[in-house]
Amino acid sequence: MRRFVSVWLLLFVAGSAAAQPASPQSAPRKPRVVRAARLLDVRTGIFLKNPVIIIENERISAVGTGLPVPEGAEVLDLGGATVLPGLIDGHTHLLAREPDVPEGYVLNLITKSQALRALEGAANARATLYAGFTTVRDVESEGAFYADVALRDAIRQGLVEGPRMLVSTRAIAAVGTYYPEGLSPDLKDPPTGAQLITGADEARRAAREQLGHGADLLKIYADWHHPTLTVEEMRPIVEEAHKAGRKVAAHAVTSEGIRNALAAGVDSIEHGHEADRAALELIKKQGVFLVPTIGYFELSLEEAPNEKARQFLDKKLQSLRKGVALAYKLGVKIVSGFDASSARNHGRNAWEVVALQRAGLPPIEAIRAASSRAAELLGLQEHVGTLEPGRYADLIAVSGDPLADVTELQRVRFVMKGGLVVRNELAPGSAAPDLP
Ligand SMILES: [Zn+2]
Repeated sequence: MRRFVSVWLLLFVAGSAAAQPASPQSAPRKPRVVRAARLLDVRTGIFLKNPVIIIENERISAVGTGLPVPEGAEVLDLGGATVLPGLIDGHTHLLAREPDVPEGYVLNLITKSQALRALEGAANARATLYAGFTTVRDVESEGAFYADVALRDAIRQGLVEGPRMLVSTRAIAAVGTYYPEGLSPDLKDPPTGAQLITGADEARRAAREQLGHGADLLKIYADWHHPTLTVEEMRPIVEEAHKAGRKVAAHAVTSEGIRNALAAGVDSIEHGHEADRAALELIKKQGVFLVPTIGYFELSLEEAPNEKARQFLDKKLQSLRKGVALAYKLGVKIVSGFDASSARNHGRNAWEVVALQRAGLPPIEAIRAASSRAAELLGLQEHVGTLEPGRYADLIAVSGDPLADVTELQRVRFVMKGGLVVRNELAPGSAAPDLP
């Protein structure tokens, strides 16, 4: 009975959606062709000269040199530019727009309505997309509850501009840990940055709740300054996620936190900043992804306000780079994630790619970390991350050579998502943005 009612309801909802005016995403379009001087094939690491990319509706139908232009197709000629797949950020927080002060997290949590948080999310999503990041894995709404689900769906419907999103909703952490820290114990029901649990049953319940409310993946905190959730608490979360065909991302900075998360069966380790060699070897052995999130330190060093801060950040960065270099040497699957959570940082996601390269990844590997390998982590490798027939027509273009200088990714000049031009500073006459 219940099942029958749900199906009936779905049909009703689908029917009313069909009556809505068509968004640019759903309107039938004539084929489009993108031409440029070069295309970086991220799988082989080789440039394809004078590529012709044929796009039908929102996906690529053919890619190659000298392909004939289909009749009636609209041609976008990007001149001397180099085309790459739309970039992917594997660790971001589009619902977090913290003020740039030490108490930023708490102010974000206690002074803003959920409505403002969601609208800020739309602004952050737009900045991220304009920077060339056409897909993101959002790993926690930081107190904005399920606004990430709403943002994901609004983007899908073409109501707001933003990247394709996989969302984790609230995240799950241990009672007594995570932000906001240092609150008075007298406060009744203060807001929290994550859903706080104790025990395997509460863990399972939180997982089921979040999955039920639309999470594409779950995020857990295996440590917070020190190991927190136990393996027994993390296991049911992983079990519930995997049963639903979803993955689990674990915040784990310490080696013990990493070992616990791996014992529970998680799919990715976020940060891993204090991982020792044995922990990195275990990550490799279990085929788990590592998202090192070191670009923030690279950017902070560049913008250090004084010599003391510069020295501190430089030292920190040296040790982080060593860890990433070792992980790469051991063959760990590294994914780019900038961990943006402030107005200052959304849209600066390519800093992570630059940081990974400076840590010792060859340029093509750093670019893969933000394209083909990131798509694998997201489980979207059939849809994004490379420029091949069948994939979404998500592509970007830069003026220079991204293999000679990965900072080219910080100067993206053209962005297309699903065959629609989002931004075009290369041939403004030939293709103005297709605004929603
Ligand atoms: Zn984060």
